[in-house]
Amino acid sequence: MVELIQGVSQFLMSVFAAGSIQTSAEVNQLQQSELPLQQRIPGGVAIVPIGYGLKQPKASFNNNPLMVLRPDEQKPWQAVVGIPLGQAPGNAEIKVGNKTYRFEVKDFAYKEQRLTVNKKHVSLSKENLQRVTQEKKQITQAFKTFSKDRSYSPFAWPLAGQVSSPFGLKRFFNDKPRKPHSGLDIAAATGTPILAPADGKVILTGDFFFNGNSVFVDHGQGLISMYCHLNSIEVKNGESVTAGDRLGTVGATGRVTGPHLHWSVSLNNARVNPLLLMAPLQGVASLADKEK
Ligand code: ZN
Repeated sequence: MVELIQGVSQFLMSVFAAGSIQTSAEVNQLQQSELPLQQRIPGGVAIVPIGYGLKQPKASFNNNPLMVLRPDEQKPWQAVVGIPLGQAPGNAEIKVGNKTYRFEVKDFAYKEQRLTVNKKHVSLSKENLQRVTQEKKQITQAFKTFSKDRSYSPFAWPLAGQVSSPFGLKRFFNDKPRKPHSGLDIAAATGTPILAPADGKVILTGDFFFNGNSVFVDHGQGLISMYCHLNSIEVKNGESVTAGDRLGTVGATGRVTGPHLHWSVSLNNARVNPLLLMAPLQGVASLADKEK
């Protein structure tokens, strides 16, 4: 445990020291990290060039406004498109004014997972069904938040731990098919602090039927992160947070089989693989090592 904690603090120090980077190799990494990683699959992210111009263009996908970034002035503006897990493979298009830009979504075979859970969380009573319907509205509203005034910076891990369930798994609860896993599960002991992976603003907190104690953070331009099953919530609605601030602690509230953090990341109201939003070395390393 002590080793793990030391590992965490070293890791976090390396993340938060990024502002004072000196060598050219490291500067290069910083530049690369100014856009999310691209993976044009359901649950992935497409980076689509949408032209030059002084003014940031407004782009949309399925009527949801898109994040638009231009880390390099010599290159065009880039629309950052979250691709929903339910997106059919094939051509997809985004709208920029009266123009249309197309990109291809490739098929991807996510793995299957079968879980046994408490019956009350599979076959819902009328009362619980009403509760879930009400909560779903709140959650969707949070994911649809679009604030223009923030710039993108890549995520750090909200805590250190094993990825116990990767993003995108096709899930079966008590043999009944359910929606695919729209987040990343990180196993950790109850009480482990959860840290904001980037600057943002808390836009929703509460105790939800499936997700338990949850926190939603708006990172700007439609990029929202969600933390579920918390033991304690340590932030308030409307509060601004800086990367590394405590959001709460790991717990086992809501529909769970043990203590872990369920971490969802949403772009333009599409839940995407959180690893694509992480600083490149962290994301790539974990894609290779942690999802096995
Ligand atoms: Zn999960």
